[in-house]
Amino acid sequence: MKNIRQVIIIVLSVFLFFSLGFCKKYRCGVCSAEVKPEWKECPRCGSTEFIEVEETEQKEQQKNVSASIIENKVALGINYPGLSFKYVFNKMVSAEIKMQLSEISKVFCLRFNKYFWLSKTSNLFLYTGIESGYVYFKTKDEIVEGDGFVSNIFCGIEKFLFKHFSVWIDIGPNIVYIKDKNYEQIEQSFDFVLNLGFNIYF
Ligand SMILES: [Zn+2]
Repeated sequence: MKNIRQVIIIVLSVFLFFSLGFCKKYRCGVCSAEVKPEWKECPRCGSTEFIEVEETEQKEQQKNVSASIIENKVALGINYPGLSFKYVFNKMVSAEIKMQLSEISKVFCLRFNKYFWLSKTSNLFLYTGIESGYVYFKTKDEIVEGDGFVSNIFCGIEKFLFKHFSVWIDIGPNIVYIKDKNYEQIEQSFDFVLNLGFNIYF
C-alpha cells in the first residue's frame, strides 16, 4: 500500500508542476489561431507574429477569476483513505469535517484552512491550517483496542483543474496520543504526515 501512495504522490506532483504554467501555448497575433512556436507562419492567415497564450488570455482570465471560485462554496473531498466535507467562508477561511476509515482505525477530525492566492491565472492556492480529532483503533484479532486524539498543523497547495474540481497536497507535523483499552498503555507519536486528495465544489 505504501508504494501505491508514493506513486500517487509523484504523479500528482509532476502534474501540478506542469499545470503551473510551465507548458506554454502560442497563438497567432493576427487571427489568434493556435500555433506551435516552431512553425514559420500561421497556417490560417500566413502571419509570422506569434504570441504566448498567457499574454493574451491572462487579462481575460483575471477579469473572470475572483475569490468566488472558492468562497461561499461547499466541497466534497476525497482523500486517502477517507472523505471530507467543507464550507469555505468569506476571506477564504474554511471549516471541514474529515473522516478516514481503514481496516484497523477510524479517524474523525475538524480541520480549518486559510487560503492565499499563489496564482490567479492558474487558480492556484496556498493554504495553511490546523486539524484535530478523535481516533479509534481495533486490530482484527481484537487484541489491541483503544482510542485517543490526533492533531496536525500543515501547509499545502490546492490547484483548480476545472471550475468545480481541484487537487490538493499538504504536509505537516502530526501528533497522535492513544490509549490501549485492555492494557492501559499510553502511546504517543510524532510524525510528518503527507495528505493528498481532490475536492468537488458546489
Ligand atoms: Zn493567423
